[in-house]
Formats: sequence, C-alpha cells, structure tokens
Amino acid sequence: MTSDQFSSAATEAIQDITNYYDNISERPVLPSVEPGYLAKLLPTSPPTQAESWDKIRADMESKIMPGMTHWQSPDFMAFFPASSSYPGMMGELWSAALTVPAFNWLCSPAVTELETIVMDWVAQMLALPECFLSKGKGGGVIQGSASEAIVTCMVSARERYVTRTLEKEGVVLTEEQKEDRSAEIRSKLVALATKHTHSSTHKGANIAGTRFRSIDTSLSNAFALQGHELRATIEKLKSQGLEPYFLTVSLGTTNTCAVDDFASIAEVKRDYPDIWIHVDAAYAGVALLLPEYQHYCKHFSTFDSFNTNMHKWLLTNFDASCLFVQNRRDLTDALSITPAYLRNNFSDQGLVTDYRDWQIPLGRRFRALKVWFVIRTWGVEGLRAHIKHHLKLSDLFVELIKSRSDLFSIITPPSFALTVITVNPTLQHQAPKPSTTKAEPRAEHTVPYQDSHVAVIPQQPDSKTLELANANTKKVYEKVDQSKKVFLT
Ligand code: PLP
Repeated sequence: MTSDQFSSAATEAIQDITNYYDNISERPVLPSVEPGYLAKLLPTSPPTQAESWDKIRADMESKIMPGMTHWQSPDFMAFFPASSSYPGMMGELWSAALTVPAFNWLCSPAVTELETIVMDWVAQMLALPECFLSKGKGGGVIQGSASEAIVTCMVSARERYVTRTLEKEGVVLTEEQKEDRSAEIRSKLVALATKHTHSSTHKGANIAGTRFRSIDTSLSNAFALQGHELRATIEKLKSQGLEPYFLTVSLGTTNTCAVDDFASIAEVKRDYPDIWIHVDAAYAGVALLLPEYQHYCKHFSTFDSFNTNMHKWLLTNFDASCLFVQNRRDLTDALSITPAYLRNNFSDQGLVTDYRDWQIPLGRRFRALKVWFVIRTWGVEGLRAHIKHHLKLSDLFVELIKSRSDLFSIITPPSFALTVITVNPTLQHQAPKPSTTKAEPRAEHTVPYQDSHVAVIPQQPDSKTLELANANTKKVYEKVDQSKKVFLT
C-alpha cells in the first residue's frame, strides 16, 4: 500500500467508522452467530496472491460485523463500561503510525517523557497524595490492564518481602545459599483479597507462585473489608507459619462497587509495614476527579500502589491502565535485568526513566498519546462533567427502579454509578415483602449495566418479568443514547 493508497483507504475507513458510530443504535447489540461461524466464511489457508483493499474493506461489514458485540452501543448493558472517544482513537492511530516499542528512554525520548508528564497530570486530577508523583520517589506508568498492574505489583511485593526478611535475618550467605533461602521464604507467602475483590488478585498470586487466601466480608458492611477482619486473617496465617505479603483493597469492587474501609486497614498496615497494599480502583478510580469523592485518598499515602483504568470510564480507548507507586525502586529492584544490549549511557548514569523496568514486557506501546489527547480535548472540567453526567443517569436509573418495586428490589444502594438490583421472580405487581434474611447477590448471574449500573438477576426470571423489566429501563437507555452522542462530538 503506497502513501496515496493509504490516504484514500484511511479516509474511507474513517468514514466507515463515523457511520458506524452515527448509526450504532440501529444494530442489534448481540451477534446472532453460532460458534465457528467465521471459519465457514473464510478460507482455511492464507491467500497466495495479494488482495485488493476494496475486497478487504468489504469483508469488514460482511464477515466481521455479524460476529461483533457492539460494546459502544447505548443498549449494551453487560460487564462494565469500555470507553471509546474520537480523541482516544486519534491517539491509537498515531501510536500505530509511529510504532516505537520504547522500552528504554533512548528508544524514543518523547514516549517516556510524555508518559511521565501525563501520569503526573492524572495523579493530580485524582488528588492522589504527592508521594505518587514522579518528583519524589514515586511515579506512574501506563499498563495494559488492571490485572497486569496487580501482577506487576505482586511480583515486586514478593521480592521486597524476601529482601527485607533476608536483611532482618542478617546472616551472611553465599549467592547460592541466598537463592535457596529466598525460595524458602517465597514458599510461605500469601496474597490476600476479599471474596468480592476482582479475580485478578487470585490470578496474580498463581502467576507469582504464592498462596492466595480470600477474606469474608459481610453485607452488613456493604461487602467492604474492615481492619479487624484483615488483622484476624493475618494473625491466623502467621500462627500457621505463613506470611501475608500482599493485599488488594478495592475502591469499587466488581460485583457491588464496595469500597473497603481504608482508615481501619491503614491502621493494620502500620503494624505490618512489610505487607504491600494495592488499591484496585479499576472502574471507580476516575470518580476521584470529583472533590466529593477525594476524601477516599486520605489514607492512600499509607498504601503502596494505586491503579485505575482510564479505558473503563474516562473516554480513553482500551488500553490505558494507570498504575501509581509510592516507591518506584520497589518495581525496578524486582524487574530490572540489564543485559549488554539494553545498556546505554543515559540509563547507566541514572539520568532517565526506562519503563521496561516498571512492567512485565520489554516493549511497550505509545499509550500516553491518547491519554494526552483525551485530557487536552476535555480539560479537567470537561472530564468532571462527563463523570457527573453518568452519576445523574445513575440517579435516574435508581428512581425508575424504585418506582417499580413490584418488579425490582435494590440489593446494594448506589455506589459511584452502580446499583445492584434484582428482578423480582414473581409477577404479582405488589411490593415485595421485606426479607428477614439478607441474601448475598449471586455474582455468577451479574448483568452489569453500561454507564454503569449493575443488575443482579435471579437465575431464571420468567419471560414476562424480563419483558416488563426491559420496558421500564428503556427510558434510561434513551438518555444514555443521547449522552453518548454528546460525548462523542
Ligand atoms: N478490578 C476491578 C475492580 C474490575 O472491575 C476489573 C474488570 O472489570 C478488573 C480489576 C480487571 O480489569 P482488567 O481487564 O483491566 O484486567
């Protein structure tokens, strides 16, 4: 493809994309294809001869679109919001055009320097404590996902725990003895989270090769972890000869958007400073843009790391997971390995940041561009307005739910823009009797609501109940539809 051919193909692609967005509400959200549909439409071996772009372009609509779930549709109600915006797409386009896997500063100084600058902007926008900014010992780095951020921190926490234990033991060891003793220490380590924490912490523990234990939380505390529950778990594990070394606390759990009790957890951290505490704010973290939520940051300076996904709720296309750490040396001590081919004078003299040492992969994409484009296009005030608008939609949703207590019950009240409801299993058109026992929501039947409310429905509501439920929430869908148009333009 020549530059001229690219120019005309790209112009057509942009037109296809804007048409797609302008008319997305007309497409059914879910595809109606059967598993294996695409293999029936495509050849089993690659084309021997070159194909024309026109032919490739036509296959997007005829072969790919039938198998697409339209996450950007205003009628998409599953999982969690997945942001998309035109400025975000421009960042992706430029990133693809430049294609610089800038693992070291030297690979493309602008990639590293822009990332440091925009991560400091994000930290300020979210009112994170100063210790997470790059001017001190901390700093931010863009990861691909919250899961990647957690496993990166977990491996760093594991190695920090091992190093500190060896230092405390103070025994002079040969390299081989040190390795053996480190392996023994690692074999006792336990990562902690609650039953409501996202599964990425459990997965991270599997990857880091350590144990994982989950802590029960109760509905009476809105599923938020309390310091005394954490302390009891730590003491129990220690009495069994195990060493808790990592805890994920949540600012907004996946099921109910619960917020753990940071104040009492910070108290426990003072007694167990070697346990790394990570704040998973994958979805809700961007709400810290609003002053009314910034009180949550009060205890963050006691914790080691914080992560939020701009690609969930802040108008930035996947992937833009912002990880902040208090002490960047914790990451680099665990993850920096420098063979001769990665050495250079700037790094050797400690003059620059090399983000390869803050992450698992070596190469990295120029993600900071889209973050920069999004922040500049909306400005902090515009981004605040975006979050506020969704919170208003959430209020409207709750009002509508309350107006039909014959159909719905609220299980956990609004938290950020998320409310957990259940569809009443009967169709008796009367308010349900208050239950004497509080049942836990059944996470496996969670049907989250785009922009961003979660409905937890009973296993098999009858079809008439669902029909009525859909009619009642249609008004909300329409509002969401309007809001999408406003924010894309
Ligand atoms: N943490 C929370 C609270 C989440 O809701 C999710 C995903 O929904 C994740 C972590 C995992 O996110 P990612 O897909 O970025 O790994």
